[in-house]
Amino acid sequence: MEVDLTTDPLDPIRKEIDEADRQLIQILARRFDAVKRVGNLKHTEDAPLLDTERERRVQASWIQDAEALGLSAPFARRVLKEILNHSRRMQESLIENRQGLGRRIRCGYQGQAGSYSALAASHLLAHRSAAESGLLGYGTFQDVGKALINGEVDYALLPVENSIGGSIADVNRLICDHALHIVDEEVWQVEHVLAVPPGVELSDLRVIRSHPAALTQCETFLSSLEEVTREPWSDTATAAESLQEGPVRERRDTGAICSEEAANLFGLDVIARSLADRECNETRFLLLAREPEPPDQRLPCKTSMLFRVNHHEGALVRALDVFAKARVNLTRIESRPLPDMPWEYLFFVDVEGHLESPNLASALLELRSCCSHLRLLGSYPSRTRKQDSHLDQAHSPAPAPPICIRETPPEPAPRQTPNAGRARSTFRIGQVPVGEGHFVLISGPCAVESLGQIVDAARMVRANGATMLRGGAFKPRTSPHAFQGLGLEGLRYLREAGRQFELPTVTEVLTIEDIPAVMEYADVLQVGARNMHNFALLKELGKVDKPVILKRGMSATIKEMLLAAEYLLNGGNLQVILCERGIRTFETSTRATLDLSSVPVLKRLTHLPIIVDPSHAAGDRELVVPLALAAAAAGADGLIVEAHPRPEEALCDKAQALNPDDLAQMAAGLRPIVAAQGRIW
Ligand code: PEP
Ligand code: MN
Repeated sequence: MEVDLTTDPLDPIRKEIDEADRQLIQILARRFDAVKRVGNLKHTEDAPLLDTERERRVQASWIQDAEALGLSAPFARRVLKEILNHSRRMQESLIENRQGLGRRIRCGYQGQAGSYSALAASHLLAHRSAAESGLLGYGTFQDVGKALINGEVDYALLPVENSIGGSIADVNRLICDHALHIVDEEVWQVEHVLAVPPGVELSDLRVIRSHPAALTQCETFLSSLEEVTREPWSDTATAAESLQEGPVRERRDTGAICSEEAANLFGLDVIARSLADRECNETRFLLLAREPEPPDQRLPCKTSMLFRVNHHEGALVRALDVFAKARVNLTRIESRPLPDMPWEYLFFVDVEGHLESPNLASALLELRSCCSHLRLLGSYPSRTRKQDSHLDQAHSPAPAPPICIRETPPEPAPRQTPNAGRARSTFRIGQVPVGEGHFVLISGPCAVESLGQIVDAARMVRANGATMLRGGAFKPRTSPHAFQGLGLEGLRYLREAGRQFELPTVTEVLTIEDIPAVMEYADVLQVGARNMHNFALLKELGKVDKPVILKRGMSATIKEMLLAAEYLLNGGNLQVILCERGIRTFETSTRATLDLSSVPVLKRLTHLPIIVDPSHAAGDRELVVPLALAAAAAGADGLIVEAHPRPEEALCDKAQALNPDDLAQMAAGLRPIVAAQGRIW
């Protein structure tokens, strides 16, 4: 019999495979076209994008059909996961990117072409803008951060955690230290391959180089190779690139562990795949921007934040309980050290939900009353949603109802919680607790005049029960000819006196430019009555992590004072103390009219501590003590009172400065009142 040598028996089968592949692609294109039409319809009807129930049904029938045809369920699940992922992103870009489409965006990442960061960046950006994106690789995470801050790039994509290696400290630190916003995330499946120069075989290899983390992840594979040493390299793509030319190529004994894309890019052969010990090796990246870009509320979202709680028992539990009660799911919590406050921590928390969704918005409002600092880092589309878990398990409990509910935007909720039945906020300034159950006496001269004066003042106020020292270095004087304060020199003297007598210091900050210096020297920043409406200053002070005393403007209503406080709270600074200091009325016998009714009124309206300044209200030493006692009786959380060791020498507000005897008399009068209220002083 004649054998036909011209046809390979594999040929017809391969033809069948090619035909099946063609059909597969056509079917996928058909599926995505339908997905797009669903997306358009959802967009015009304002319907939620994610239909978890529908996804569950799709998956169940997909797996059932696959198994009936003899396909493995885990394999089918994996394929479907990819398809659903892609479908969601397509619908997302339909509603999200309408105005961004066509805009060329520049994105920085750490590493070079072929690195996992570059791959993740190009994947993410393909969905964010139809125009080609410019990807710029940088040497270090810090360099990427700098490029974003100075406007060299529009976005930075940085890896924040890996499913095997855990959190990436340098990136977390970068986010903590700079006012950057998280606008998206990407989860990248890391798939390591072994790349070699063409023709090299596994048995030729004596050295395998890669990033140390990649070498660790491929431990089992590497230890199965005899006589091969591991060579740590700066990153996986550079390791691949190093094999491209030079003596290494000639020696032909070195391979690299990198991505398949890096191997292709540098003309290398891939001689082994799936090298990692674990099948699942995912890196989560965050896309950072200079401005927030809150996504459409219909998308399943995550929100990230940083907060600090007071250093007392149960503080963190209370904060987290707020989320539990609001049925907000926490997806990550991590602590970061605070270099200026050893053994205190910032918590980095990610939750499911959009910042403006009703339950998360109210949880965040509640959270403010149990944190001393809260910074929202942004809401962004979620790529690691719990809902995906139903794709990994055959039987999973019914997922929680979607959090993002589209509704007409509510009136922005005030950040301050009315006090009805709720805890008032308390925080510690140094060792001094302020707020509920405590009484704080802040005393000292109007202005710091010399080191001797402020040290004498500190000694005097301390002896009379003051727990904090005041003293202005930058003075807001009504007349430009009056003493304007010693400025920086005054700040130094104030700090010195505070240190000598272990008193935290309070001083006024007049301008945005002065904030860094005042932050460095003082423990509490005071916003004076004349600046209560200086919203630019308030916005900046909202960003700092130091307590602020906000004084009531001379002609401000209580509501206006609360709104001014909102500026601080909105920025994330929750350590705000309100101060009643008298208002302008038709009455001229006192410098201002002390509005003591504001104390109980404010307590009804806000959880913030309220103190009273009788000195600037009275303007007259003799009136200060009775007003101070009345303020305490009205329920103030403390007082700020001007006192001078030698009032006759005072360069500022001489007439209202208490002398040592007045101070002693005031303290004696205050003690029984404070004790009767069960407060600790
Ligand atoms: C002060 O406290 O020194 C001061 C200037 O107060 P006010 O802003 O209330 O006038
Ligand atoms: Mn004064």
